[in-house]
Amino acid sequence: MGSIPEAIRPHVVCIPYPLQGHINPMLKLAKLLHHKGFYVTFVNTEYNHKRLLRSRGPNSLDGLLDFHFETIPDGLPPSDADVSQDIPSLSVSISKNGLLPLCNLISKLNNTSSWDTPPVTSIISDGCMSFTLDVAEKFGIPNVLFWTPSSCGFLGYMHYRHLVERDVSYLTNGYLETKIDWIPGMKNICLKDLPSFIRTTDQDDVSLNYLICQTERASRASGIILNTFDTFEQDALDALSSMLPRIYTIGPLVLLANQIKDENLKSIDSNLWKEQPGCVEWLNSKEPNSVVYVNFGSITIITPQQLIEFAWGLANGEKSFLWIIRPDLVVGDSAILPPEFVTKTKDRAMLATWCAQEQILKHPSIGGFVTHSGWNSTLESVCGGVPMLSWPFFAEQHTNCRYSCTEWGIGMEIDNNVQRDVVEKLVRELMDGEKGKEMKKNVIELKTKAEEATKPGGSSYKNMEKLIAEVLQI
Ligand code: UDP
Repeated sequence: MGSIPEAIRPHVVCIPYPLQGHINPMLKLAKLLHHKGFYVTFVNTEYNHKRLLRSRGPNSLDGLLDFHFETIPDGLPPSDADVSQDIPSLSVSISKNGLLPLCNLISKLNNTSSWDTPPVTSIISDGCMSFTLDVAEKFGIPNVLFWTPSSCGFLGYMHYRHLVERDVSYLTNGYLETKIDWIPGMKNICLKDLPSFIRTTDQDDVSLNYLICQTERASRASGIILNTFDTFEQDALDALSSMLPRIYTIGPLVLLANQIKDENLKSIDSNLWKEQPGCVEWLNSKEPNSVVYVNFGSITIITPQQLIEFAWGLANGEKSFLWIIRPDLVVGDSAILPPEFVTKTKDRAMLATWCAQEQILKHPSIGGFVTHSGWNSTLESVCGGVPMLSWPFFAEQHTNCRYSCTEWGIGMEIDNNVQRDVVEKLVRELMDGEKGKEMKKNVIELKTKAEEATKPGGSSYKNMEKLIAEVLQI
């Protein structure tokens, strides 16, 4: 129990968007709120709940008496596969089918409320799950939206409607170099640097319209949470502040969550894939800053040819590497690496299907990260002081890549049409070159700033207290 007296104990219901990169930061936030004295109900989809139980074991989500898990259906046909679901279908389906089950769940929690289980006092839901605003209104409680992308990516989404209205004719791949010089808070960007769902000429495109709808509903929230820190994304944050209600920057949550002391709670993680053991032990046998870590997150899909180009680039780069190849990373069933590659790299490569990435990026042996520039991966890399090679796949990963490479000086881009000789050259530069050294210096500076923001008295630390005092604690 934290510092809030039992009789007025607030009860927060946390509802992530049902993808790995959204569940992870929401779970950290939920644990932090529990640490601050909140009663917490964490709501996964039935599909993900089953996956978590499969990957973690049947009792792994038992939690604590005052931190418990509930489920709602996502409305998609049942499946036992361990793969990321089709995102456009998932978005539409959960928005349509989640409302009633969530209302029923909150009624159930309120009706069973007792001294041990206080009534629900607030909702924190993902920015892409804004149907919850209607639920919060029905129950007369605040709803804070947690937008999990970078602030620069979120700012891009916030301008989707303007982009579409200004000039649809350039919204095609051929015009990706078009300069966009009218978005306040974003300097020197092109269309290709904005979140990728804008790359369509189809005005009925599901993802485009879904995001326009979600961003437009954001102004109805009681507050907006962002997983970033002020000195990292100041310009984008200033621009967002003029468009939205109260914004609370409380990141990086990977650092802010260090306050959590409860060992039972700390041990609950949200891996949808089963972690392959042995990665940390393997890293322990390596020299400091000597290993390239390669991981494209939970959604990226690559072709067999791209797999081969990366493989030979890594092999010819002559560095040790830890490469995470998710079971569903490669299109089809063809994650097959050439035998010559296996022979050539057997003394300096470890391949695994899933790892504890946060831990890996903190390991002293890691010298560089080949990433798709998902926002969690970017933050985890900054917090580990690890410079990056960026190969963005979709969504705001392109924006993160551009900021990493140009604004923050902590990354170099790999062209979408990946070629083995370019990967080799960039790996060598990252690990041994002048540019690599400069990026390392920049990322260490950012890491220090992130630590300052999250320690007592820092901006993110204080914003967490403000979020509780101003919105969540009644
Ligand atoms: N992750 C992990 N192990 C893996 C791959 C990913 O723990 O092998 C975690 C990673 O630490 C991050 C999240 O999954 O917290 C991925 O989120 P991100 O925003 O980087 O990318 P996404 O998966 O959403 O594309």
